[in-house]
Formats: sequence, structure tokens, C-alpha cells
Amino acid sequence: MEILEFGFMQRALLAALLIGLTAPAVGIYLVQRRLALIGDGMGHVALTGVGLGLLTGQQPVWVALAVTVAGAVAIELMRARGRTSSDVALAVLFYGGIAGGVVLLAKAPSGTPASVTAYLFGSITSTTPNDLAVFAVLAVVVLVTAVGLSRVLYTVGGDEEYARASGLPVLGMNILLAIMVAVTVVVSMRVVGLLLVSALMIVPVATAQRLGRSFVGTLGAAMVIGVLVSVGGVVTSFYADTPSGGTIVLLAIGFFLVATIGSMVWAAAFRRSHSEAEDHLHRHGPTCGHEVVTHEDHVDYLHDGHRHAVHGAHYDEH
Ligand SMILES: [Zn+2]
Ligand SMILES: [Zn+2]
Ligand SMILES: [Zn+2]
Ligand SMILES: [Zn+2]
Repeated sequence: MEILEFGFMQRALLAALLIGLTAPAVGIYLVQRRLALIGDGMGHVALTGVGLGLLTGQQPVWVALAVTVAGAVAIELMRARGRTSSDVALAVLFYGGIAGGVVLLAKAPSGTPASVTAYLFGSITSTTPNDLAVFAVLAVVVLVTAVGLSRVLYTVGGDEEYARASGLPVLGMNILLAIMVAVTVVVSMRVVGLLLVSALMIVPVATAQRLGRSFVGTLGAAMVIGVLVSVGGVVTSFYADTPSGGTIVLLAIGFFLVATIGSMVWAAAFRRSHSEAEDHLHRHGPTCGHEVVTHEDHVDYLHDGHRHAVHGAHYDEH
């Protein structure tokens, strides 16, 4: 294939494969915690890191990583202290991040407006072999952590009170997740770009949620979709001569629309479909402590991201 004859395209495709797997695997926990835009905020902060790196003549990747991880931990500590003022604190961090980045990049020796665009929206041709080696190591570490600790991360995100009561390190897990988001943002800056990486964390997960009900099923589907859109987007951008980040995100949104319309049609066709909760040992009741949600003519019990309703001798998944 013509596309594989170019060294920069081989690197871009490999980077796309890594980020296509990693971004949704981390993003699924953000969706679960209703923190879909945190990744976007970290992209803003990363830009200041890139600017700082170029200005001081250091490797932009490492400086961006250090600054973004610091920002991620700060955001998580602010979040843990209650949410009254954290909205405003986050906004200041987001805008401060992008303003600092734009100013520093303009002052950097090699900082031209074109290079700002490359970092914001991705530029596959700029991935050096050295970048790729660093990205690969970081992406694999994040991926192994996101999948390997999925039970703990998922339990903490589903019910913090329950997680705390059962002795799980809630704050530690939330900070770990924030650091994984920060690393994912930096790793994806060449392929997807800092302003669009959040979309690759969130949209494949939203698409997968239309298809699967269990957490593991959704995680797997989101990673498959992530790889399809990121690798597909890089290939498309090569032939269509478009920016890789925007192409990837448009492709992801296309999948999302197809899945959404498809699941609506499916639901209309099989209205009262029946899905039992699997392996359900817990007995729900008025005093079990799970949140009760009124649903049509019955109540659902909310726990671990699932909604279960009593049905005869078993529970249904709603
Ligand atoms: Zn219960
Ligand atoms: Zn229900
Ligand atoms: Zn249940
Ligand atoms: Zn049933």
C-alpha cells in the first residue's frame, strides 16, 4: 500500500492505534463520573506545557507531561474539596492554560502560528521516531492500568460512599485517573490535537453505550470503535489532505449518529425486550441503601452504574 511507504505515515498509524485504544479506555471512567469535559481542560493546560517546553528549549512532550499531570492532580484535589467554587476554579485553569500556551508559543524561538495549530488540532506528519517511542511506552502503561484496575476504578466511580466504606482508596483512585487522563492528552497531541482529544475519550464510549449494557462489553466496544475511527481518520486524512484530528473526530461522531439512530429504531421495533441482570446475589429493598429511581410503573435500584428492577424471582437490567 502506498500509504505505508512513508515513514511518517507508519508512525502516525501506530500512534493512532495506541491512542484509539487508550483514549476510550480512560474516557469510560470520565463518562461514568460525569466528568466528560475534564479531558478538554487538561488539553488546555497541556498547551502551556508545550509552550514552556519550546521556550526553554526542553523536550515539549516531557514539559507538557509534567505541567498537565500537575494540573490534573490540582483539579482532582479541588474536586475532592467540594464543588461550590470548583466550577470557577476549573474555568480559570482552562483559560489560563490556553492563554499561557498561546503567549509562550508566540515567544518561543520556533513558535510560529502554524505550530500552535499543529498542537491544537493534530498534525500527523510531525511525529518523530523519538516521540513515538515515548508515546508508545506511556500509552501502554495507561492502557494496562485502565484495564487492569477496571474493577476498582469502576466501583469508586459508581458509588464513592460504598467504595469508601469497603476500604478502597477513593481519592487515590481519582488522582490516578486524573493522571491517566493527563498522560492520554499528551500522548494524543500529535495525532488528535489538544483541543480534540477529549472527543476521542468520550464519543466512542457514548457510541459503545448504545450497543452494550455491561461495563466490560462497553469498554471493549469503545476500544474497538476508538481504533476504527483513529486509524480510519489518519488514513482518510492522508488521502483527503485534511487535518488528522478533525477527521478522526468527525468519523467518531458519524459512528455515534449511526449507533444512536440504529438503537432508536431497534428499541421501537422490540419495545418490551427483556434483559435479566446476570449473577445478581444482592437483594434490593427499601433499606438496601441503593438509590431508587421511578421508572414507568415500577422502581429501579441504581448501583454500580446499573439499574435493576424486581421481576419475579430475578432482577431485570433497565
Ligand atoms: Zn440494593
Ligand atoms: Zn425500570
Ligand atoms: Zn442490582
Ligand atoms: Zn425479568
